[in-house]
Amino acid sequence: MAQSDVDVVVVGAGFAGMYLLHELRKTGFSYRVLEAGDDVGGTWYWNRYPGARCDIATTDYQYTWDPELHEQWQWSEKHAAQPEILRYAQFVAKKHDLYSGIEFNTRVDGAQWNEVAKRWSIHTSTGETITCQHYVMATGCLSVPKEPDINGTEKFTGNVYVTGRWPHEGVDFTGKRVAVIGTGSSGIQSIPHIAEQAKELVVFQRTPNFSMPAFNGPPPQDRVERLKADRATYEHEARYSGTGVPLEDSTVSALSVTQDEAFEMLEEAWQKGELLSLGNTFMDSAINRKANDVVAEFMRMKVRSVVKDPAVAELLSPYKHGYGTKRPCMDTGYFETFNKPHVRLVDLNAQPIRSITETGIDFGKESMEFDAIVYATGFDAMTGAIVSANITGKNGVTLKSKWEHGPLTYLGLTSVGFPNLYMITGPGSPSVLSNMMVSIEQHVDWIRDTLVHMRENSFDTIEPTPLAEEGWRVHCTDCADITIFQEANSWYMGANVPGKPRVMFPYIGGVGRYRMACEEVVAKGYLGFELAGSTKKQCNDGLVRQVQPDVDMVLDFISTLNLPAMETMSPTEARAFSEASSAMRPSGPEVGEITDGVLQGADGELQYRLYRPATPGPHPIAVYFHGGGWVFGSHTSDDPLCRDLCAQSNTLIISVNYRHAPEAPFPAAAEDGFAALKWVHANAAALGGLAEKIAVAGWSAGGNVAAVTAQMSRDTGGPQISGQLLLCPVTDGSHQHGSHIENGERFILTKSLMEWFWNHYATPEQRKNPQASPLLASSLAGLPPTMLVTCQFDPLRDEGNAYARALMQAGVKVEHVEARGHIHTSITMVDMLPSGAPHRREMARALRGFFS
Ligand SMILES: Cc1cc2nc3c(=O)[nH]c(=O)nc-3n(C[C@H](O)[C@H](O)[C@H](O)COP(=O)(O)OP(=O)(O)OC[C@H]3O[C@@H](n4cnc5c(N)ncnc54)[C@H](O)[C@@H]3O)c2cc1C
Repeated sequence: MAQSDVDVVVVGAGFAGMYLLHELRKTGFSYRVLEAGDDVGGTWYWNRYPGARCDIATTDYQYTWDPELHEQWQWSEKHAAQPEILRYAQFVAKKHDLYSGIEFNTRVDGAQWNEVAKRWSIHTSTGETITCQHYVMATGCLSVPKEPDINGTEKFTGNVYVTGRWPHEGVDFTGKRVAVIGTGSSGIQSIPHIAEQAKELVVFQRTPNFSMPAFNGPPPQDRVERLKADRATYEHEARYSGTGVPLEDSTVSALSVTQDEAFEMLEEAWQKGELLSLGNTFMDSAINRKANDVVAEFMRMKVRSVVKDPAVAELLSPYKHGYGTKRPCMDTGYFETFNKPHVRLVDLNAQPIRSITETGIDFGKESMEFDAIVYATGFDAMTGAIVSANITGKNGVTLKSKWEHGPLTYLGLTSVGFPNLYMITGPGSPSVLSNMMVSIEQHVDWIRDTLVHMRENSFDTIEPTPLAEEGWRVHCTDCADITIFQEANSWYMGANVPGKPRVMFPYIGGVGRYRMACEEVVAKGYLGFELAGSTKKQCNDGLVRQVQPDVDMVLDFISTLNLPAMETMSPTEARAFSEASSAMRPSGPEVGEITDGVLQGADGELQYRLYRPATPGPHPIAVYFHGGGWVFGSHTSDDPLCRDLCAQSNTLIISVNYRHAPEAPFPAAAEDGFAALKWVHANAAALGGLAEKIAVAGWSAGGNVAAVTAQMSRDTGGPQISGQLLLCPVTDGSHQHGSHIENGERFILTKSLMEWFWNHYATPEQRKNPQASPLLASSLAGLPPTMLVTCQFDPLRDEGNAYARALMQAGVKVEHVEARGHIHTSITMVDMLPSGAPHRREMARALRGFFS
């Protein structure tokens, strides 16, 4: 008789539930494992449609926790078919005696948290109630087939099949008239097989999908060799990779090569017949629409090269979503199938299904009769199985209601209000955007270790804090926001299920980065969790990821380079270093014209670079001052940012090469700034600009020069300024603000580098002068409208914030943007860091606003 009260209840006996069962036994927890099906394997138990295969190579799609398996089990194919993967699951279950620990044909239909007993009550389809301390949903991301939302499905009297619930005995379509509805992965895999048997096959397609041939065969020899040579390293690389397969990340932009070169590279990836190789060819195809178009066009070219009827080829070619933004597919002869005379493609956009009838399908103006209809309509992915298991947490709140507007989890593993509830590959974890074997093993390990930790430390419950959960949601959204995934109506976005909230369900920040976040949470004493026992409580509340994800990647990359600190260099060396770094960045958008010239500074001529919009002039003008701590930089050093501002704001940008310290210390830069403004004002018409519409702008030390120039202009009756745009400005050299300490180490501009800049530019006494520290001006009244941007992880954040506040208090119209998750340099990194783009758009809008 099974125990009715156990430590852990696990729902599901797919690869996740099987491994967890093994680990629970190993660590001595009592358990019940409940599975709706009558065998192990989950996905590979249910999805028995013809052609069902994994599309991650079997060298990677297998367990790593039992090293003996690598000797005892040999895969016959690169992409194993469903029967072989199911046999593998059964083999593992037998080897480890897992069958004896699983209760099959047992569906869990409800669970309630008992706050007094600190236990879950679980209800099963057999009428039993089980109580447990920990409740684990190993219910799978793709285990609830989506009901077809089509009129009249119940009327059809012929045979009906659902790919995700395929009959165990198989189906013979020989001589049959068959309709397949849906062209996602299951449709794409099954259609060629069904076509081989059917007398007539009609494929109903709503959305064409990208698919590449699997070129199936034996497991890839190069991988097999790598595994044999050093399995531990291979597996480590997989765990810390972007997708759970150890591939080298591309460093090539699709926009940096010609189309011929791009297609050559893509052809090489194509020939490998591996799902992830195409998407991995270019570094920017997931984040840049134009880069993605290169891959998408290559794929469409491939469709055209196979499908003989150009009209059908066009219908099979995706145009409305980017490559990879819906799950790309792998096929064997899919597109070729449409060359067969008995196969027809119906475009549901042109001929929608009106109704399923008793004998067939009415669509567009046609009616067709069928013997069988196959629904390959996908899954209620990621949340379907968890939500339908009716989980009620604290205070009677159901998970379904909590997730009404989108799943809220901490790390995709846990959720506030649901103590001791764990989800394996839940929403907010990499899950379906990964080789799921790697993700499953990671989650099982994490849960096992957490349970052991709690037992050893006498904690009864674990629950994430609202702060940590909200922070994780924001981080997940930040990750999604820098990609183009949200443009697609994909099941990643819940778009395939009517009424499902439209959010990015999986975590798109990468398998390795995700794993590091989970590790950090544990290393910091379960950061963001509250652990409680009868006599003690522990809560290290906080956020595990705050820096914008793309900024974080750049910081990580820079840290691998072991670059010398700039403040250890001479000014000449620092200038050379800065120029060399700038030479490697993208150039920024096209503008109408770029010309270089000289203007009159405070003590001689200064170079300038003029960026003219492509629209007819004359234009408003922004006199721009570059960053570089008054020591390095030039009129060309902020080129990408100047181009971006020019193109987006339709403003003529004049970037000034003011004099630099230590050769020309304070007040040279300030005086040059003001002189440049006067010169531009006097020469505006000749430059193609409007003298009555001039703003100043600058970044960092250049922001300081811009702010000081605005004050000098106000104080001396100089040219009327329409506005000042200050990005991370230096405003106060007289004392250290908190952010100098808080952000002083890790974020490119460091506290010591800032001190080095000041030491070259101004003496401690000079720093008290408002022309060095504009925050110290006796009054800020009368200054022009201001757009001031500060960055959360910038040492200069607090002095920028202080300047914004002081301007407001002085009655100046101020728009202050506090850029969350950004560092001193990130907003200037045009075409490198997508997360900076919205702030640059804001800056350009503000600039336009100064002149309206
Ligand atoms: C056709 C197809 C191809 C795939 N190919 C790949 C691939 O190539 N690479 C890859 O990484 N991933 C692939 N996947 C994803 C695949 O789901 C995972 O790789 C993996 O098998 C998931 O294992 P799991 O144990 O987490 O979930 P599942 O295998 O889905 O198992 C979950 C189990 O939970 C049971 N269950 C659910 N709810 C309840 C309940 N309320 N009560 C009782 N039991 C319940 C289900 O019956 C099921 O057996 C594919 C998925 C599909 C559908």
